[in-house]
Amino acid sequence: MYGVGIFKGLGVTIRHFVNTYVDDLKWGVKRYQTDEGFEARQSPDTTGIVTISYPEERMAVPERFRFVPFLVTNEPDDPEEPNASWCTSCGICAKVCPPQCIWIVRGEDPETGRPIPDPAEFYIDIDICMNCGYCAEFCPFDAIKMDHNYELSSYDRTTAHIHDKERLSKPISYWQKIAPTRAEEERLAREHKEAAKAIKKAMRKRKKSA
Ligand code: SF4
Ligand code: SF4
Repeated sequence: MYGVGIFKGLGVTIRHFVNTYVDDLKWGVKRYQTDEGFEARQSPDTTGIVTISYPEERMAVPERFRFVPFLVTNEPDDPEEPNASWCTSCGICAKVCPPQCIWIVRGEDPETGRPIPDPAEFYIDIDICMNCGYCAEFCPFDAIKMDHNYELSSYDRTTAHIHDKERLSKPISYWQKIAPTRAEEERLAREHKEAAKAIKKAMRKRKKSA
């Protein structure tokens, strides 16, 4: 029936309007005068209020929120390879990126000159990036993820918005903090993959020795 969408939309607006007052009644003055109330108003679970006093207040973003990508690295205190990038410079993200805003320069072994699985340079032009998340979806190594930091504007119109490898790199603990559910799912999937690989290897060995 024509016009149903309009009434549905109005229903959402009215629900938010009413919930704002319901939350106010529930919290009382605590909602605006205590740290606890401040946190609750900024949480993604807040129901009514939909306008905030930005930038003093910031609405928390949901886990699946996505903004410009970043590159995942090991922790600085990793016992084996501190700060090592997870990126193997396979180039898949650059290939699938719809506006083609990723540039990768593959690293080379200084002695042999052969390519190594580590990018020498990695750039993303964040003015062109449309935050689609394809790069993160397609990366086979969980090495590129979508960030939650949306405050990237600047007055510089030249290079400030071309993020290089250094600026893009963030430790895995950052991803675990902003997206704990997904990070855990991915960790389990990686473990499962490693276990499956080990089983296959053991089976091949057994076949050979049989
Ligand atoms: S797809 Fe992943 S591993 Fe491959 S170049 Fe992009 S970030 Fe690196
Ligand atoms: S989020 Fe989309 S547009 Fe941005 S770099 Fe990744 S694939 Fe390209």
